[in-house]
Amino acid sequence: GGMGDDMGGGRAPRDPNTVIISSNENPLGPAPVALEAISGAAKKGGRYDREYSAAMTKAISEQFQLKPGYVRIYPGSGGPLDLALYSNIGPDKALILGDPSYEQGFRAAQTCKAKYIQVPLDKKTYAYDVKAMLAAHPNPGAYYIVNPNNPTGTITPKSDIEWLVKNKPAGSVVIVDEAYHHFSTEDSVIDMVAADKDVIVLRTFSKIYGMAGVRAGFAFGRPDLLAKFETVTSNNRQIGSISLTSAAAAAASLNDPQLVPLRRKINKDTLDNTLEYLQKNNFAFIPGAQANMFMVDVKRPGAEVQRAMLGEKVAIGRVWSIYPTMVRVTVGTPEEMKKFQTAFTKVMNSPTA
Ligand code: PLP
Repeated sequence: GGMGDDMGGGRAPRDPNTVIISSNENPLGPAPVALEAISGAAKKGGRYDREYSAAMTKAISEQFQLKPGYVRIYPGSGGPLDLALYSNIGPDKALILGDPSYEQGFRAAQTCKAKYIQVPLDKKTYAYDVKAMLAAHPNPGAYYIVNPNNPTGTITPKSDIEWLVKNKPAGSVVIVDEAYHHFSTEDSVIDMVAADKDVIVLRTFSKIYGMAGVRAGFAFGRPDLLAKFETVTSNNRQIGSISLTSAAAAAASLNDPQLVPLRRKINKDTLDNTLEYLQKNNFAFIPGAQANMFMVDVKRPGAEVQRAMLGEKVAIGRVWSIYPTMVRVTVGTPEEMKKFQTAFTKVMNSPTA
């Protein structure tokens, strides 16, 4: 992790009367099975864990049919994302990114004093432009792809990622951040990890599983790529070992077959309904979002509208400099999105907002 709106630690308390649709959290919170698992595990919290982390690793290995040694579990995915980046980039190993994209990528490059190249998303499909990414540099250390992308919610076809992996220079890795994977219909690239490609995949329980504050996530990679994490941290405890309550909640969530399809449908229905509202009112937005977020074009500096919306007690997301008139909005509950609609109509119809 690090700084920024989407990452944990040191945040100010929130106004309970404000609708919070700014950080791609899940308003549903942890699933009932997760809450039950947390309370069961908490009773054993006086001892170092010998049970729940193993159960989480087992649940993951079974679900993804991976050989032993291809998965590591963490408190969230931001920590292992940093490890994947730090262990593959540096002063002479550049990072190739999409633009706009999740800022942790270029922040890692700044920390590592690595050159980074932000390649604009395809102007029609808003997919990562893998051909332009390949052409951007002859021998980078890593490519970072967020799929579905944050902040656009848009999809990069798996075939494009496969093409990049096939054609990239030897010695580089492709880091695929699947934080929002479950909200989409696109295939995962985890099978490329199992096939021993130069691919690292990150997953989190912060999004569809509703556990951003509980903290659980994991990294998939060939064992030698995961072992490289140790070159940038003395051991995995340095970024914090996962608590037994988080591991218990993660394992229980993975083992609940209803959870993902149910929540995917809830999110999609609310997203579709909100986009329909935008369309009916002639507000432009980036099409094709398959995540718990979308970007709307407010046709004026986005930060002005973000501020005005906060005045209406609706906290929406931030702005990316490549799209200065767009703001990112997270999908909340249907009730929250009704409040969003009322506030947004008001703000957009007031010329000075
Ligand atoms: N990756 C992406 C694309 C994200 O949007 C986020 C959080 O918003 C993260 C990683 C990190 O989340 P966490 O550390 O909670 O798993």
